[in-house]
Amino acid sequence: MTGPLPDPAQIVSAARLVAACRHGVALTGAGISTESGLPDFRSRDGLWQKLDPMRVATLTAFHRTPEVFYEFYRERLALLRHARPNPAHLALAYLQRIGRLRTIITQNVDGLHQAAGAADVVEVHGNLREAVCVSCRTVVSIRVLEDQLDAGTLPTCWRCNGKLKPNVVLFEEMLPPDAYQAAEEACRRCDLLVVVGSSLQVTPVSFLPGVAAAHGAALLIVNAEPTPADAEARVVLRGQAGSIRPALVERVEACPAKGFPGFGPN
Ligand code: NAD
Repeated sequence: MTGPLPDPAQIVSAARLVAACRHGVALTGAGISTESGLPDFRSRDGLWQKLDPMRVATLTAFHRTPEVFYEFYRERLALLRHARPNPAHLALAYLQRIGRLRTIITQNVDGLHQAAGAADVVEVHGNLREAVCVSCRTVVSIRVLEDQLDAGTLPTCWRCNGKLKPNVVLFEEMLPPDAYQAAEEACRRCDLLVVVGSSLQVTPVSFLPGVAAAHGAALLIVNAEPTPADAEARVVLRGQAGSIRPALVERVEACPAKGFPGFGPN
């Protein structure tokens, strides 16, 4: 998918920020994976335009209407089977390899950052590789859950017979505390936070740009639509992340490794 590119001057400013940072961190959301064929939640073509999240993505729905809940996840898993990392995932992994970025914090459960070769990925909303027992917290491969659904039974835990759910954070659930603490710590330490493809409407992740900014980091936002953090950002690139990527990475490579006056720490 392609779209109009932001003003080239904005891309140059963004590239300078990335080239100048010493401790860059990325925060990604569902928008980074739309160009891999996975719909996001809140944009015009997002999942919540067609489905009521309260019916498919809450702990209450999981317990009260498991058939509806599992059908939603079966469809997401089927889409995920064919999804591949797109240029935006590859660009973040590349920026990490060349030392521009350290941690990648993601709200996504699709594993596409790791598939792109990224390391140090903090999955604050869990993942779809695994299923977890809601009673004894035993974690198994998602295949165990899928096999039971394929056999026409509701998935249960081999250890305690409790109910199995995908190892993702549902509405009404807490975030895994270790993952959220790691994300907060990364935002406290970074000098640049690059937000890609998130509406920044879901708490507590929506607080992270504020944490980074309060500790002196610059914000770079790459998103198709406005976000509540735009006003605080040093640079906002409006558009499709995958289309912006070649121009941005090319310009980062053209920048000297050390900083530019007026752009982040030197
Ligand atoms: P969101 O749907 O609220 O926001 C996505 C944002 O990305 C929107 O503002 C949209 O304009 C923008 N966007 C869409 N396509 C884009 C593109 N190609 N380039 C740049 N921007 C683009 O998603 P969110 O902020 O991640 O919301 C958080 C919730 O979404 C989390 O709970 C997360 O677990 C969940 N989620 C994850 C996946 C996934 O794993 N791929 C998919 C759907 C939802």
